[in-house]
Amino acid sequence: MSFSFEITAETSPGNGAQARSGRITTPHGVIETPCFIPVGTKATVKSVLPESMKDLGAQALLANAYHLYLQPGPDVLDEAGGVGKFMNWDGPTFTDSGGFQVISLGVGFKKVLAMDAQTFRADDVMATKKERLAHVDDEGVTFKSHLDGSMHRFTPEISMQVQHQIGADIMFAFDECTTLHNTRGYQEGALDRTFAWAIRCLDEHKRLTEERSTHPYQALFGVIQGAQYEDLRRKASKDLGGMNSSGISFDGFGIGGALDKNALGTIVGWVNEELPREKPKHLLGIGAPEDLFVGVENGIDTFDCVLASRIARTSSVYTMTGRFNVSNAPYRKQFVPIDEECDCYTCTHYTRAYLHHLFRGKEILAATLATIHNERFIVRLVDQMRAAIADGSFSELKAQFLSRYTYKNPSST
Ligand SMILES: [Zn+2]
Repeated sequence: MSFSFEITAETSPGNGAQARSGRITTPHGVIETPCFIPVGTKATVKSVLPESMKDLGAQALLANAYHLYLQPGPDVLDEAGGVGKFMNWDGPTFTDSGGFQVISLGVGFKKVLAMDAQTFRADDVMATKKERLAHVDDEGVTFKSHLDGSMHRFTPEISMQVQHQIGADIMFAFDECTTLHNTRGYQEGALDRTFAWAIRCLDEHKRLTEERSTHPYQALFGVIQGAQYEDLRRKASKDLGGMNSSGISFDGFGIGGALDKNALGTIVGWVNEELPREKPKHLLGIGAPEDLFVGVENGIDTFDCVLASRIARTSSVYTMTGRFNVSNAPYRKQFVPIDEECDCYTCTHYTRAYLHHLFRGKEILAATLATIHNERFIVRLVDQMRAAIADGSFSELKAQFLSRYTYKNPSST
């Protein structure tokens, strides 16, 4: 078994922060943490070569089990030698469990779960009278493919089988992802299901690890749900943190589900207090710069998010002073880099005016250059946090960054 995690530095608890740096070792290499993991949903970071992702400092990539299950099918990835080999990425890889996509695409809500709790509605988006494409029961989820409308079913066992075939170094247990709109009663039921499914994931993971013993070891992270409720988040963390089945426990933990942006630090803090300190913690689907600081200072080791590449394709680019839309009129003749302080390939070779032209002309290269910049911006920002933890200047880095960075993204997934 070649998976391990070691903590290399921690901020002193006295200053209110609990940030830490560390090192995750996987069969495909080491991840220095805290670390931002760019998302390659369908085994590709859209419009960017894997070599470019490596050049911009990405240490690992995360693919989505749901999408790869539907297309090309997990058997193809298995025969290819795993997702990394299939996509020509020799570094560490992650897959999510498929739970989020199965339920969110099925229900039909957008991939935005970080909502404002102030907009709560009492009605339940999972109400049985509404037409929806995913049906959750105690055994699993039946859902309709967003590609062709065909019916499929995910259970904890199927998710484990699919993820073992995809072959990523780090996988996540199959969970029920709820939203802030679900009622308290529904959240409780979902948490019970996620608990039962976590045990089934460990059991199936153990079985598959033995059956496929010639394959590199794949680590399994449990997923903490519980929405905005302190007692539910703490209970889920205690339950999964201490869970042992078939003689194994989780290698790490993901914090998932409905996360109210305004309470992100509080919720992550509750979870971090309950989970075993020595195991890595991943914050699922969070990637806005200000949220990354909040996650790191509350003990998060890794993040993934599609935000950087998704907004890049709509011409929205990061700078140290905020986000702007490079296709807007003021940038037509600005012959300067997107961000003077950025060291990425795009900023060292191209101007805002050129990107403006590419976006206006609907040229494919626009997406490539903007994505390289945005991914580098986020990867580098988290790299700077890691260095700041090591030399004791994390609080200063956070204060300095937030004093200049003005754009506040309303939702971070
Ligand atoms: Zn750049």
